[in-house]
Amino acid sequence: MIRIEGLTKRFGGTAVLNAIDLEIAKGERVVVIGPSGTGKSTLLRCINFLDRPDAGRITVGDISVDATRASRADILALRRATAFVFQNYGLFAHRTAQENIMEALITVQKRPRAEAEAQARRILKEIGLADKADSYPASLSGGQQQRVGIGRAMAIGAQLMLFDEPTSALDPEWVGEVLDLMRSVAAQGQTMLIVTHEMRFAREIADRVIFMEGGRIVEQGPPAQIFDAPQDPRLQRFLARVS
Ligand code: ADP
Ligand code: MG
Repeated sequence: MIRIEGLTKRFGGTAVLNAIDLEIAKGERVVVIGPSGTGKSTLLRCINFLDRPDAGRITVGDISVDATRASRADILALRRATAFVFQNYGLFAHRTAQENIMEALITVQKRPRAEAEAQARRILKEIGLADKADSYPASLSGGQQQRVGIGRAMAIGAQLMLFDEPTSALDPEWVGEVLDLMRSVAAQGQTMLIVTHEMRFAREIADRVIFMEGGRIVEQGPPAQIFDAPQDPRLQRFLARVS
């Protein structure tokens, strides 16, 4: 359903992603782990064309885009099919919670305003923030802001949701509510690609865990295999450090 082939990205002369191949089945939840600076964010950003890949092909459902030949229309189609949840929420500071959720529906999806508004209100209820519809991000807790960030991604109805360390900017007290919301997104059968340092959560939510280092997938498998029987010494060292 989602296929990434030969995805390559260089910054300056350095290859940050080295011909990554990855297939994700519909409804599958894939968690990416690995040391910092290893290309995890770049992988997610290239899938969404927030960073433009230097080479490779990305296929999401009917949309298939060759990085070297991608047109604006291709990129827009890919952005309609994928949704991004940022580490720092990525909300518009001068827009309310409801307006933040409506934004992508209007600009990316070209939905009529009234329809976008109704959809945003449904989502606000679902993420438990119906009473915060008119609040600006600055008056929300970190946990509430990230729930809006996830709500915005939910509203798009994307085939793939990309989460880049969605809890790592949060005070510990807000982590639980964000993970709970991600669990409920998962329970709806949403296909998810998640970068996280929350190893317990990874073990619980992942169908498959991918360990990346140096812009490559070093090892992957079901959580029990990756966490309890890691093969590659680099993965063994990484797990010893983080657990
Ligand atoms: P991770 O998310 O695994 O911590 P990143 O994907 O953010 O790693 O970064 C991988 C490497 O690419 C790092 O060495 C980082 O410094 C570099 N990098 C990321 N974004 C840029 C950029 N916009 N310009 C130059 N180098 C970058
Ligand atoms: Mg990162």
